Amino acid sequence: MYDCVIVGGGPAGLSAALMLGRARRNTLVLDAGAPRNAASHALHGFLTRDGISPAEFLAVARRELERYETVTLRNARVESVDPIEGGFRIQLTGGPAIEAQTVVLATGVVDDLPALPGLEDCYGTSAHHCPYCDGWEHRDKPIAVHGHGDTAADYALRLLRWSATITLCSNGPARLGPESAAALTRHGIVVREEEIRRLDVVGGRLQRVVLDQGDPVEAEALFLCLGHELRSDILAALGVTLMESGVADAARSGATNVDGVFAIGDASRDPQFVVTAAAEGAAAAVAINERLTRAALDGGRSPHPG
Ligand SMILES: Cc1cc2nc3c(=O)[nH]c(=O)nc-3n(C[C@H](O)[C@H](O)[C@H](O)COP(=O)(O)OP(=O)(O)OC[C@H]3O[C@@H](n4cnc5c(N)ncnc54)[C@H](O)[C@@H]3O)c2cc1C
Repeated sequence: MYDCVIVGGGPAGLSAALMLGRARRNTLVLDAGAPRNAASHALHGFLTRDGISPAEFLAVARRELERYETVTLRNARVESVDPIEGGFRIQLTGGPAIEAQTVVLATGVVDDLPALPGLEDCYGTSAHHCPYCDGWEHRDKPIAVHGHGDTAADYALRLLRWSATITLCSNGPARLGPESAAALTRHGIVVREEEIRRLDVVGGRLQRVVLDQGDPVEAEALFLCLGHELRSDILAALGVTLMESGVADAARSGATNVDGVFAIGDASRDPQFVVTAAAEGAAAAVAINERLTRAALDGGRSPHPG
């Protein structure tokens, strides 16, 4: 039985594996290979790694784990996790079942991308959703925002921190409350309700948003006001309490309401950054090691691996 199986080998899961490896815990990381930021050209906001490609970031992380002999990484998709006596049974898709005393779910989320012609040519290079991740690169340049309703209006207003030239493209009725509409007008944010016909993109760079009628919106970047959902239904199937936003309601240690199950990274709570995902991984690893160490001591056994 593994000390811990980590489902998801993104920044959260790999960081948990690093700290568990350093505590000499038998750890298995199972990863299906679909990280959330795969389309992104550069990862920003991670001290010492600002601007690194997401693929390179994961490659460095995997290389660093190689020297920890108790940590194994496997490319595999987990189908289900079920409680058993003393731990959990982890069923792989088309593969064997594995047992572990504890489980970390670092399975991330999937973004609800709109069906906009041209988006696939610029998503991750000049179409983004997080201003903290990508706003600085487009500072003081014209920015279009995709979205509707008061949430999108608030998002557009907050983007003023990065650019004074913001256009809200609602791709249909903007559905703004009077206060939002007034705030947008007050801050010079134009609202365009025409349907978006396509995004004009050259070499991954957005040139303009072409609308069904009227002049196109000239913009260097498109920020998408999006929702997202859990990438895996394992958390819900295990009975982990979810928050209103749809992600796991986990403590700072990643502990959930299901004893022995930890949820970290984007699958748990805000903020959703690589650096916080990694920090949550480290915190969960410490909690798991302390828990297993305490159980050994309480049982009259030495926690020493030998
Ligand atoms: C376009 C884009 C750009 C971004 N840019 C930045 C940025 O510049 N800076 C920043 O800090 N953040 C950025 N983010 C956010 C960042 O990607 C996430 O915060 C981060 O990836 C969260 O890490 P994670 O480990 O929780 O999840 P993920 O990185 O999504 O990793 C989850 C892993 O779990 C695996 N998985 C899921 N279900 C299963 C299963 N059943 N079995 C096995 N494996 C499974 C997936 O395949 C995936 O590999 C960006 C996001 C997007 C979409």
